[in-house]
Amino acid sequence: MHTDPNCIFCKIVEGKIPSRKVHEDDEMLVFHDINPWAPVHFLMVPKEHIPSMAQVQPQHAALLGRMMALAPQLAIKEGCRPYPEGGYRIVVNTGEDGGQEVHHLHIHVFGGPRPWKRG
Ligand code: AMP
Ligand code: ZN
Repeated sequence: MHTDPNCIFCKIVEGKIPSRKVHEDDEMLVFHDINPWAPVHFLMVPKEHIPSMAQVQPQHAALLGRMMALAPQLAIKEGCRPYPEGGYRIVVNTGEDGGQEVHHLHIHVFGGPRPWKRG
């Protein structure tokens, strides 16, 4: 599996940098954002170092599908209220214009009662 020794999220996946884990399996790690914008804010990352959505290939489709399909379950587990009164926001920033700061693909899940700090 491809990893990048200089990548902060690869270091989190490898346990070299601590994180508050929400979920882990053989292909993804989910952890709380260190600087949350909302009462619930966690990040879902593939264990493989994929820099952004721009590098996604057809062979990643099933993995990304599994991540998206798991997001609603984890959102409820982490305290988001149920749809439609509650809900959450799922965001994947991509590239400079997309506001991406960490270049290891990650899905943001934001939720919880408003107001939020941002977003
Ligand atoms: P983005 O701007 O989409 O690249 O988002 C990167 C996110 O990673 C930001 O929301 C940061 O707060 C978060 N982040 C950066 N370093 C860490 C860390 N060590 N643990 C948890 N979240 C982090
Ligand atoms: Zn990485």
